[in-house]
Amino acid sequence: MKKFFIAAVLLTTTIFTAMAQNKGSFDVYEFDGFKLHVYNTGDALGDASYIVEGKRGLVTIEYPLFKDNVEEFNAYISKLGKKVKNNIADYHIGGSGDIKMVMVEGMPEFMKGNVYGGMMQNFAQAFGDSMAELPEIEAKEVAFGKTIKIAGVPFTFNHGASSDFPGASIIIGGQVYYSHWAPSKSHASNLQFGSAAAVDAELEAARAALASGCTLFIGGHGGAVDKDALNFRIKYLETVKANLNLSKDAFVKAMEKAFPGLAGEEGLGALADALCK
Ligand SMILES: [Zn+2]
Repeated sequence: MKKFFIAAVLLTTTIFTAMAQNKGSFDVYEFDGFKLHVYNTGDALGDASYIVEGKRGLVTIEYPLFKDNVEEFNAYISKLGKKVKNNIADYHIGGSGDIKMVMVEGMPEFMKGNVYGGMMQNFAQAFGDSMAELPEIEAKEVAFGKTIKIAGVPFTFNHGASSDFPGASIIIGGQVYYSHWAPSKSHASNLQFGSAAAVDAELEAARAALASGCTLFIGGHGGAVDKDALNFRIKYLETVKANLNLSKDAFVKAMEKAFPGLAGEEGLGALADALCK
């Protein structure tokens, strides 16, 4: 018994040391004309941040929200040895300090409003001092449909899902598709789908992502996934849509039957409450 106790203490110490050294994890993807660095923060919100590395500099997207992640992200950036030209924020503002900010049109206004302000206040109450200091929102706004070039890489700002307005879907170098939520291989959450109209909006947005010709799909939630995940998501949303007129119980059963063993089954009841009559 004593032996086991010592082993357990050692194990705990090892885990804590490892956590202190590596909070999140990085993945790197090579594309024509740029590299994409994906940072899965491992934070309490499960958010992801990104660095686009062009020949002439770096562009960060969705800077991390927590101090320890910001520290790890900044240390990684300094090893790349290039200047950060801009930070793009699309709902997720973080500890980007004095980096020049770019947002889609309407996002700065939205961030000053009650909905966003209330959410950030809730975060501040829940997470307190572990949150990074947020930058003053003085962003350059890019109109929907417009392409801007930063660090030699083109970024096209399109409309995201209409249920997620004013969030943008951003096409990076014609090859990577950023949206607020990356397509996930799990059951839909009632947090993302509050109504049947949101299913239509997300389906339309997912089809637009597929039509873009991009090969990697990334999000502030969900990290980076391939086209398989997007195709799965489209099939999944079509199935949700086809079952919307069922009773709540029948909806849950139909979804379980259509996607046996898929993660997130425990949330189907709440999803049925939000979507079915
Ligand atoms: Zn978000």
